[in-house]
Amino acid sequence: LFVTFEGGEGAGKSTQLRLLADSLRARGYEVLTTREPGGSPGAEAVRHVLLSGAAESFGVRMEAILFAAARSDHVEEVIRPSLDKGIIVLCDRFMDSSRVYQGITGNLEQSFVESLERVAIDGVVPDRTVIFDLPASVGLERAQRRAGDDNPDRFEKEQLETHEKRRDAFLDIARRDSERCRVVDATQPVEAIAAEVLSLVEALLPH
Ligand code: C5P
Repeated sequence: LFVTFEGGEGAGKSTQLRLLADSLRARGYEVLTTREPGGSPGAEAVRHVLLSGAAESFGVRMEAILFAAARSDHVEEVIRPSLDKGIIVLCDRFMDSSRVYQGITGNLEQSFVESLERVAIDGVVPDRTVIFDLPASVGLERAQRRAGDDNPDRFEKEQLETHEKRRDAFLDIARRDSERCRVVDATQPVEAIAAEVLSLVEALLPH
């Protein structure tokens, strides 16, 4: 069972991923938690490049190809082998983040993003994708608080618009792929969200 967590910044994805892993382990399941970009030694090396100052000079195509290279390594080295062993894999961000960050707000052509996605995932499609939805202003505020940065100047209009665009893009993915995707209201209390997330994977759990 392969579950991915998607959404904008400050939506609480990583907290919820940990809580779901705890609940599943308490039920006796073997669970692997991982994240992108990264998740395998090769992909962590690419993450380092992507998050370093050097990446500021990269074009968006180069960035997208690096994300795809990291994803491919992550899939082949970690995700597919784990799934083959019957381990439940929970991944913080996956292909939908590339569709949204590189495709929509990166303004890359859809066909290019789709080609990279096909190569990178090579058939390893999530069984369930939980999309954590919240207003961009709330997510930005949370993410900034986490970064210890409460400078209100960073709530720029353009930045908010970019985040709203990403929110809409994630909701659009959910609408188009309603078999795979479920949207969760991420403004709810942590415990309520955790219960909902568990309910969204429960029917898919192996017996
Ligand atoms: O919220 P999280 O800690 O997962 O943030 C990782 C960051 O990496 C995102 O805020 C986003 O800027 C970036 N990212 C990206 N494209 C992806 C995945 C992540 O730009 N495919």
